[in-house]
Amino acid sequence: MTDSLPSYDWPTLDPGWVWLCGAGPGDPGLLTLHALNALRQADVVVYDALVEPAILDWAPQAEAVYAGKRGGKPSAKQRDISLRLVQFARDGKRVLRLKGGDPFVFGRGGEEAQTLVQHGIPIRIIPGISAGIGGLAYAGIPVTHRDVNQSVTFVTGHDQSGQTPSSLDWRAIAQGAGTIVIYMGMKHIAQIADQLIAGGRPPDDPVAVVTTATTLTQTVLETTLSDAPRAIAEAALEPPAIICIGRAVLMRQVLDWQSLLAEDAPRNLDPLGRGEAAESA
Ligand code: SAH
Repeated sequence: MTDSLPSYDWPTLDPGWVWLCGAGPGDPGLLTLHALNALRQADVVVYDALVEPAILDWAPQAEAVYAGKRGGKPSAKQRDISLRLVQFARDGKRVLRLKGGDPFVFGRGGEEAQTLVQHGIPIRIIPGISAGIGGLAYAGIPVTHRDVNQSVTFVTGHDQSGQTPSSLDWRAIAQGAGTIVIYMGMKHIAQIADQLIAGGRPPDDPVAVVTTATTLTQTVLETTLSDAPRAIAEAALEPPAIICIGRAVLMRQVLDWQSLLAEDAPRNLDPLGRGEAAESA
């Protein structure tokens, strides 16, 4: 099953095991080779809403089991999903649990893995490219950039009850994080923007909103912190979206490589005004 992978001592997905694997943010080319190796061997693939369907085609032999939210139906309960994984493993299946992005970044992968270990099921974890890093890269935004930030903060835009997380110290985030990357932030963007501005973040801080990042339908909206709620509403943007706040967003003016591919000229060779454009070897 692994003959079309580069030659390497690939691990075997044995019956009764569950591999918890990141599928990346969308573009199937962003899968890891370990993920591909897993897809080749699985008997059952339990996947989430944010896993690109084309990826499932790479496991034609496997039963595909959907475990996400769809069509307004309530999402499968987390505990039910975890116990289903336990049952598949006990049935002697080779189980691949495929989650969008990275399984341990806002994906409840830790909870699922914990339940599996508690039930004595052997596991392997395969990281993936998280939307908050890879999705921004596809928009031409470096999540760290020497002149801009020495830290980045990944934040979830809602808590378990669907509210803006009240446990978060928005003032500390506003003041301490060079770049703020928000997952699941669309619903509460107005409240988040207000709290960050109240916490000392400049209202004109650059913001990018990247929807369905890395897929063929990716869109990128550039705005400012104070204008973000209005601009998102006006453009009628829908999740999934990554919201990036901070001056790193300006780098898109020179690094929007998808526009460069389409042979548009860069908007600004030196968006941070460092005089780098004029520098020569
Ligand atoms: N484990 C995932 C995150 C799961 S939480 C990861 O590491 O990427 C779900 C949130 O992730 C979405 O609400 C959205 O904020 C973000 N997200 C996931 N895929 C995305 C994509 N292709 N484009 C934009 N945002 C995405």
